Amino acid sequence: MKGYHDIVGDGGSRILEQVAEKQNRIADGLAAVRHLVAVGSGKGGVGKSTLTLHLAGALRERGLRIAILDADFNGPSQARMAGVQDAVFVPGQHRMALPRTVNGIAVFSMGSLVPESKALDFDSAAHGDSHTWRATKEFALLGEILASSEWGELDLLMFDLPPGADRTVQYADFLGPRTSFVLVTIPSEVSRGVVARSAAALLARRSPGDGGAKGPNRILGYVENMSGYFCRDCNAVKPLFPPSRNRFNEADSQPTLEIPCLGTVPFDPELARHCDRGMPFAALPDTPVRRALDHVTQNLLDSLS
Ligand code: ADP
Repeated sequence: MKGYHDIVGDGGSRILEQVAEKQNRIADGLAAVRHLVAVGSGKGGVGKSTLTLHLAGALRERGLRIAILDADFNGPSQARMAGVQDAVFVPGQHRMALPRTVNGIAVFSMGSLVPESKALDFDSAAHGDSHTWRATKEFALLGEILASSEWGELDLLMFDLPPGADRTVQYADFLGPRTSFVLVTIPSEVSRGVVARSAAALLARRSPGDGGAKGPNRILGYVENMSGYFCRDCNAVKPLFPPSRNRFNEADSQPTLEIPCLGTVPFDPELARHCDRGMPFAALPDTPVRRALDHVTQNLLDSLS
């Protein structure tokens, strides 16, 4: 057995070199990606996956090259929503080629690899300790996916994040300052509170270079999803949630969120049907919901440029 004094540096495991190699592989793989945009919230079930996919669809219609990385490994919705549930992964020219939707969006989602009836276990050697390892293993997996997938030349790589305000910040740390954030809320005070917490946590991160003035990751803005219900019978958007006392950006309200609103998207049962059946954005009829998604897409592009 080696004695303490026999261990030089990392003990011969090359662990530091391995980490550096992986970081280089990630950076190389993403070198031709113009924008990294993470869609988060803090809250679950507010429409992060729906908006990620349909904004991607609207961007694709404008001729942009788009990929989605579904970072919600244990609740992967993108595979079903994007229609790539049964996709087969094949080796690409240099790395793993990603499945594509019918309209050409490349999608990595655990839902293409793990059946919906199964959870993804992050086992550990010590029984009952897997929670300790979960975040570490999740980020190791994310790094491996980033390093080994063929992203190629892209205008946007969008990350569909899992819920949790603390995890939103962890993703910001892991993905680095190149990644901008879009936060999704619904018009309830509960949801706004959680999103305000996520935004505050992102903004509270200090980068040494900027004198602590702002966090290193840009927040492009928030989208209010399910803001009203689109009634097809009367072709009008009706209220879905009770009027709120707490509006973002109002001086006298709590919580305040000093980030731009990229737009509002009504609830539309047809959109939910599209998501369940993996139908593309192009198949959405011309309704206020589609126009709202187009409007958010334009604001997103404006804020990126
Ligand atoms: P999250 O990613 O935040 O957990 P999802 O995008 O999975 O939320 O949305 C939860 C459910 O709500 C899905 O079934 C989705 O189809 C539906 N949904 C989300 N936004 C809308 C909308 N604007 N209109 C209709 N259904 C929606």
